[in-house]
Amino acid sequence: MLRVAILSVGDELVTGQTVDTNSAWLSQQLSAIGAAVVSHATVGDDQAMIESAIRRSAEDADAIVISGGIGPTEDDLTRQAVAAVLGTELELNEGWLAKLKEFWARRGAVMPEMNRIQAMIPRGATIIENTAGTAAGVRATLAGRVDLFSTPGVPKEMKVMFQRDVLPHLAARSAGAALVVRNLHTFGMGESAVAERLGTLMDRKRNPTVGTTVSGGIVSVRVYSKFESRSRALDELAATESLVRGALGNLVFGADDDVLQAVVAKLLAERKASVTTAESCTGGLVSKMLTDVPGSSAYFKQGWVVYANQAKYERLGVNLEMLNVYGAVSEPVATAMARNARRLAKADFSLAVSGIAGPDGGSATKPVGTVCIALAKAAAGAPRRFDDSEVLVRTFNFPGDREMIRDRSAKMALTLLRYELLGERAPF
Ligand code: AMP
Ligand code: MG
Repeated sequence: MLRVAILSVGDELVTGQTVDTNSAWLSQQLSAIGAAVVSHATVGDDQAMIESAIRRSAEDADAIVISGGIGPTEDDLTRQAVAAVLGTELELNEGWLAKLKEFWARRGAVMPEMNRIQAMIPRGATIIENTAGTAAGVRATLAGRVDLFSTPGVPKEMKVMFQRDVLPHLAARSAGAALVVRNLHTFGMGESAVAERLGTLMDRKRNPTVGTTVSGGIVSVRVYSKFESRSRALDELAATESLVRGALGNLVFGADDDVLQAVVAKLLAERKASVTTAESCTGGLVSKMLTDVPGSSAYFKQGWVVYANQAKYERLGVNLEMLNVYGAVSEPVATAMARNARRLAKADFSLAVSGIAGPDGGSATKPVGTVCIALAKAAAGAPRRFDDSEVLVRTFNFPGDREMIRDRSAKMALTLLRYELLGERAPF
């Protein structure tokens, strides 16, 4: 497998003023041709640092792609560093100098002497043409083994040059190999619980590899399939994907760009079902998510944000005595909120959320993060479609700060509805 090291050069990168987007983009491009990106390194505009980074990167790689540091100014030192590592001098490339002069002449100007350096390349190296700027790239071979490509840092210029002159060469060296990736998203179980279910599928020596990442409480299972040909990589990806889906069942709500609310919206639309909300601690987040999706008016007409007890009573008719006896954050109250909202909105489903998002308001029996979620649906066999509800209610304990607790509560409410729409009992 072709091993590639990526090196970014620029003071603005090491000081954090500019985010290094080049490395991420280059990695994606290289991964797609089945090359293994073995390292990312970033150094400032310092010749000695650039030289040592090139030497170190070369140890573990068959090719190095450098971006940045080939402008015309004093602080652009990549070409000098490349020459030093190659053990040669910079020499003038007459062809590129002529092009530079032409570039200024077309603008009715004379090339500043400073730009002459941009036509200097290490002896034995070749030029990578730049059609979007004045900095030509450099291509050389290090120690007779490592392909070295130096491109400008400006993303627009780097991308054009990389795709035109670097990628085809590396793809040929990579001999048709390909990496294909699938992300399968889950919500509701922790990363270790998901990993436990995946068992030996997560074996590091396996190909395709299976790994997990978490973002916003969503545990995603990432399948990387790397093979000598694209068709084999796709076949193997499909086979592993079905094993992962087999192990996780309906915990997987979607793949790649799928988002939870859109998945729920699609299920509602397919069943021509409507939903309403009665929210306390989420302050409308569940209805916000339900209406994130274009076309949401097909299934969502209205919802309630009933934050105070008085509002729960006045708007949704939640019994005041019940509120006093059990407290607003309780299963009986969440149940009443869901049931009454469904009746008032004449909706097929209703979601109610009442919880303690913190940082204050927790107690020993109901600590911060305690959230009751109720889902109401038509009671089986009951004659009055909206008046008779069957309610599923759960109490959760979500970790984290206020924002996290509210976010997880809303996602869990949608997840309970999703399981209901799939006709399966939620596993939590
Ligand atoms: P240079 O070719 O080093 O003169 O870079 C020119 C400009 O390109 C810099 O000022 C940055 O704004 C941008 N740039 C350089 N390197 C990167 C990088 N790795 N990722 C994103 N932008 C970059
Ligand atoms: Mg620079």
